[in-house]
Amino acid sequence: MDKTLIGALDIGGTKIAAMVANADGPLLRLSAPTIKIGAARAVGDQALSLLNTVCVQAGIEPGALAAVGVASCGPFTEIDGMLALATPNICGGKSGRADLPNDWEAIPLEAVLREQFQTIQIEIDCVAALAGERAFGGAQGESNCVYVTWSTGIGFGLCVDGHLLRGKHGNAGHGGHMLMDPQSDALCGCGNRGDLEALIAGRAIGQRAGLSTPALFAAAAAGDHAARAAVEAAAAWLGRALYNLAVILDTRLFLIGGSVWLHHGSWLAPIVQREIDARMPALTHGVLLQPAALGALTADIGALTLVMPDSWRPHWNRTQPWRALAGD
Ligand SMILES: [Zn+2]
Repeated sequence: MDKTLIGALDIGGTKIAAMVANADGPLLRLSAPTIKIGAARAVGDQALSLLNTVCVQAGIEPGALAAVGVASCGPFTEIDGMLALATPNICGGKSGRADLPNDWEAIPLEAVLREQFQTIQIEIDCVAALAGERAFGGAQGESNCVYVTWSTGIGFGLCVDGHLLRGKHGNAGHGGHMLMDPQSDALCGCGNRGDLEALIAGRAIGQRAGLSTPALFAAAAAGDHAARAAVEAAAAWLGRALYNLAVILDTRLFLIGGSVWLHHGSWLAPIVQREIDARMPALTHGVLLQPAALGALTADIGALTLVMPDSWRPHWNRTQPWRALAGD
């Protein structure tokens, strides 16, 4: 019997999740709010500590993990040849945001994780999510597909001709910072005005309407004209961004996840699809838009997929063992 054990980390601006799994499926998942005080290595230390706790609670020796897959918010940079996080939502020295109680310029993630684990693979969360969707979700057998998250941030994972695109620092797919409307005064955490994330990120569209995001969507769903116009305009911006991607990459399938889409995708999908279909039919005819099949766990399952033995996949596909876990 295969006794291999693997670990996974999902590192976000709001929370960190850790998971361990064996050939039969995930054993346990825990999450905690992302630490933002102390030394810059605190995030890596927190991730290790959470992973160790998951192991102990699952009755596993932490040293027994053969490999750890990591899905992380970006962008990535390098410190001494190893991946580090330069995330504006965590690094106070990067964004200058008054609500971040640190002056971190970059978080030495890979160096800290390598103090305990030799075999690790770190990818941007949307790249990991696409790996998960291609292995177990809605993109199985699809060689030209894009994973899209619409949440507090906007990001893409790109697959062309069966290859996940990474780029020089692993940052391919940071489409939230594509410039869409330079005349706009909508400000992104990265400093851009009028980039996609500034225009449509969950928190941003609520703030501009003077409402919390849930209140804005509730008003839109109830038929409030101004709220509905704001939400539909956001969906149209996303549709234009996906049109741009479809004509650049010759994409067949967009899989969309993230909290905004999980809650509201069913009525926003036709607006996004219309923008994709409206131009260049030679390139856009038949391009599909579907909800991410792994739901709230797509990045977590993606992180496991990065380091999972191929021999596990048929059994996981049959039994879908992640369904017993709750995402957050
Ligand atoms: Zn930006």
